[in-house]
Amino acid sequence: NEYFALASRPAGTPALEHFTVKKEELNMPEDGQLLVKTLYVSVDPYMRGRMKDAKSYSAPYAIGEPITGGSIGRVLHSRADGFKEGDIVAGGWGWQRYGIIDSKACRRIDPELAPITTALGVLGMTGLTAYFGTLRIGNPQPGETLVVSGAGGAVGMIVGQIGKIKGARVIGISGSDEKNRYLKEELGFDEVINYKTDQPLAEALERACPDGIDVYFDNVGGDITDAVIPLLNRNARIPLCGQISLYNQEKPELGPRILPMLLTRTVLLKGFLVGDYAAEQEEGLRELGQWVREGRLKYRENIIDGFDNIPEAFIGLFSGENLGKQLVRVAED
Ligand code: NDP
Repeated sequence: NEYFALASRPAGTPALEHFTVKKEELNMPEDGQLLVKTLYVSVDPYMRGRMKDAKSYSAPYAIGEPITGGSIGRVLHSRADGFKEGDIVAGGWGWQRYGIIDSKACRRIDPELAPITTALGVLGMTGLTAYFGTLRIGNPQPGETLVVSGAGGAVGMIVGQIGKIKGARVIGISGSDEKNRYLKEELGFDEVINYKTDQPLAEALERACPDGIDVYFDNVGGDITDAVIPLLNRNARIPLCGQISLYNQEKPELGPRILPMLLTRTVLLKGFLVGDYAAEQEEGLRELGQWVREGRLKYRENIIDGFDNIPEAFIGLFSGENLGKQLVRVAED
């Protein structure tokens, strides 16, 4: 077997030198386990947090050990009830060509229902993140204004479309005109802002949001969020999903003191983790699946080919290489 391990912990933006390929003898699965061949792996911004040696909601990656994360594979050998050779499963074995996994730690995917890659995106972790953050915390109402940062990414483009389904006016912020064109022309976003070129951002936001902002779904943090906060309306809601603009900072910077504004406008700011909604996952997947089938929810996947290119695909998240969910195809079948 071959797998990627962390070679060293990055300071600042991760680079190829922080990853290394290791080889190991492949064992056979024991009772309750499956041997799977990896077909696709997901690369996700939260993995940057696991490269730090710091306590967080998921344990840090150990140097030299396989980098785990969302993955899809085909069962080559099953020692577990309910699974057979040829089944497609999604799990968390990650950046490995083959995985020996506990059958309880994976779910079977029905390739007849949807393309299997959706289990890592719109009908998987990122879709559920958008779903629960938008509906349980943001709760957009018809006619309200919803702003989403990181709008051209996996979570962001689903958030904006759920906002449209709920009747909100949706403004997306991303770092590329190509992404913004897609959001507006293909997904029906009402307005789009390029945070790199539409400067000053505060003025661009004011033009795009003449009635203020009722829901701000934050994927990014930093300067973008600083520009959004002063436009929040009374009783606005902020699903605090991610802060990718800060993940590579070694030292936290001090931003403007925003809490007084949140206080006087009685804003709800709530951090959340998609895992908090595990008990409602089936319900979320059902509704997302229905919207996809009805053509009301579109998704995009940015697929890079080849096991060797996994680290590069991951690093690309921090320079905005991806339109939609970033995946790597490791094997054809
Ligand atoms: P994306 O598909 O959105 O990929 C990351 C995108 O972030 C890039 O394409 C880039 O787009 C943008 N970006 C990168 N660096 C910066 C920066 N410095 N400033 C502004 N934008 C930047 O990733 P996901 O959709 O998977 O994740 C989005 C966010 O949601 C992340 O913060 C992630 O950590 C969080 N998340 C949280 C979960 C939870 O449970 N709370 C679960 C899943 C994700 P651009 O071209 O616009 O710069």
